[in-house]
Amino acid sequence: MQELDSRADQLRHQRANLPEIAEVVTLQGKRADVANLARDARIVVDDLTTEQQKVDADVEAVRARRTRDRDRMDKGLVTNPKDLERMQHELESLERRIASLEDDELEVMEKLEEAQAELAKLEAMVAEAEEQITAVSATRDQKLADLDEELAKVTADRGPVAEGLPADLMALYDRLREQKGGVGAAELRARECGGCRLTLDQAELNRIRGLAADEVVRCEECQRILVRTTESGL
Ligand SMILES: [Zn+2]
Repeated sequence: MQELDSRADQLRHQRANLPEIAEVVTLQGKRADVANLARDARIVVDDLTTEQQKVDADVEAVRARRTRDRDRMDKGLVTNPKDLERMQHELESLERRIASLEDDELEVMEKLEEAQAELAKLEAMVAEAEEQITAVSATRDQKLADLDEELAKVTADRGPVAEGLPADLMALYDRLREQKGGVGAAELRARECGGCRLTLDQAELNRIRGLAADEVVRCEECQRILVRTTESGL
C-alpha cells in the first residue's frame, strides 16, 4: 500500500512539475512580448505607407501642373512677355518642388523598407514562438496523459489493497502519511526502520518478536507503522 501511495505521490509530483508546463508559460510570455513589438512595427509601416502615398500624390500633382504649363507654352497660348516670364518662374519653382518631393519620396521609401524588414523579422519571431508553443504543449499533453494513465493504474491497484485493511489502521496510516512526508508505513529490514533508518535495539526486537502477526508495530523513533518482512532480522 505504501509503495503504491509513494508511487502515486511521485507521479502527482511529476505531473505538477513537468518542465514543459513552465516552458510553455515562458514561451507564451516571449510570444506576447514579440507580438507587442510586431504590433508597434505594423503601426510604423502603416504610417509610412500613408506618408508615402501622400508624397506620391503630391509629386503627381506638381508634375501634372508642370505638364499643363509646358503644354500651354508649347502651344503658344502664353504670348504676353510678362506672363511668359511668370510662367518660366513658375516652371523653375515647380522643378525645385518636384526635386524636393522626389527626395522625400526616396527617404520615405527607405524608411518604409526598413520598417517592413523589421516587421517581417518580428512576425517570423512570433510564428517561431507559436510553433515552439505548439510543439512543447504537445509534449506536455503527451506526458500528462502518460502520467494520468499510470496514476489510474496505481489507483486501480490500490483499491483491492485498501479493502483488505482495517479502518483504524488505514486512519492511522493516513494520519502518519500526512505528518511524515507521505511515508506512514515502512519495512523493518535488517533490524532497521525503513522510515527513519534507526536500528532497533535487542530489547525492542525481542518485544516485537513476541507480538502476534496481526499486531500493529510502530517505530519507537519515528512512530511509523513497521511492516515485518522475512528479512526483518527478528
Ligand atoms: Zn522509524
